[in-house]
Amino acid sequence: MKIDLKKTYGSIEWVFVERMLQHLNFPPKLIGLIMQCITTPTYSIVLNGQPLGYFKGRRGLRQGDPISPLPFILCMEYLSRLLDEVCSYPGFHFHPLFKKLKLVHLVFADDLLIFCKGDLRSIVSIMEVFKCFSAASSLQISSEKSDIIFNGLDSSLATSILDYTDNICLKGASILDYTPTSYSSWSWRKICEVKDKMLSGYFNDKWLGGEAAYTIDSGYKWLSPSAPGRVPWYTEVWNKFNIPKHNFILWLIKQGSLLTLDRLVKMGIATNQLCYICGVADETHSHLFSECGYTKRCYRMLADWLSMQVTDVLEGSVVLRMRQLSGFRRLLICEMSDAIQYRVWNSRNICRVDGYVIHPRKMLQDIRADCKLRLQVLSLGCINPSDKLWCTTLGIM
Ligand SMILES: [Zn+2]
Repeated sequence: MKIDLKKTYGSIEWVFVERMLQHLNFPPKLIGLIMQCITTPTYSIVLNGQPLGYFKGRRGLRQGDPISPLPFILCMEYLSRLLDEVCSYPGFHFHPLFKKLKLVHLVFADDLLIFCKGDLRSIVSIMEVFKCFSAASSLQISSEKSDIIFNGLDSSLATSILDYTDNICLKGASILDYTPTSYSSWSWRKICEVKDKMLSGYFNDKWLGGEAAYTIDSGYKWLSPSAPGRVPWYTEVWNKFNIPKHNFILWLIKQGSLLTLDRLVKMGIATNQLCYICGVADETHSHLFSECGYTKRCYRMLADWLSMQVTDVLEGSVVLRMRQLSGFRRLLICEMSDAIQYRVWNSRNICRVDGYVIHPRKMLQDIRADCKLRLQVLSLGCINPSDKLWCTTLGIM
């Protein structure tokens, strides 16, 4: 089943959002702030070009409000957990292909795919879950945009399922012949496009020599023969010496996805894009993580400590190419360089919220302590004597 929800943002109950936040143990103060943001909109109607008075909203999240997707995702988590429980309902059977995985549903925002065996009892169990979810949240299934796809089901059973789920639009008998309607969502149409492309490839191009059985692996390779391998910064970001919490921020930095001020200005959330720390240039990724005077100072201190050139430690990927160093030292120095990136972002956030900047000397002390702890945690086997001496001299072993 491909389920679409009606007016998802507009009809969600506030009390449901609040209860979800409470049950997920969000701090009461934060819940108060979130509810304040959600429950205070007023609306006005424009009549003959003139706005007439105001009235308060009673439910729903505002479309376009940056906070809206977050509580909405939490509400969908409720549905997701209900669907996880459906497998314990008496008479519910998994879809034969997903029995091993115990997979009942896949959800992306408000797009929902549900898989189960084509018997009435299983469909009834799924519909029970939706009744329960609709009663709690006020979200309803949109029948125009939802589909059920049967495969290999006898027509009388299909008709009884049709009767039971009368508010869902039902289409063809096989996924291979299925064509999405113009009401179908963008993501569902994209999935169907791939299905059609692979179908024509299988029969017309005979990518499996027209004989071999289909496998996901062969299908993927046929669809994207030049699928990119590892990105150039793979080793740097997923370096085993890195503190795990640094990896995610580093990954975002490499993709230029952190919400720096230049991006916030483009989104209309901020008006000033001057760097919080130095105040002399725009806060872009390249400024904050390499050109900012503060960042350069941090790198200079790291380079001095390691008796190296600043240019050598400025990028983890540069360090990794330094063949004159042992693999152990390269990874460890790369970790320190990456730690600066993470801590500069942290420092920028502290500066934004609390108005002060972490001193580079303090940053270096923290990095040194982190390194020491990381080496203990990793409990590496034998390290060659010269690397060991190097670590002892630096005070991290
Ligand atoms: Zn700056």
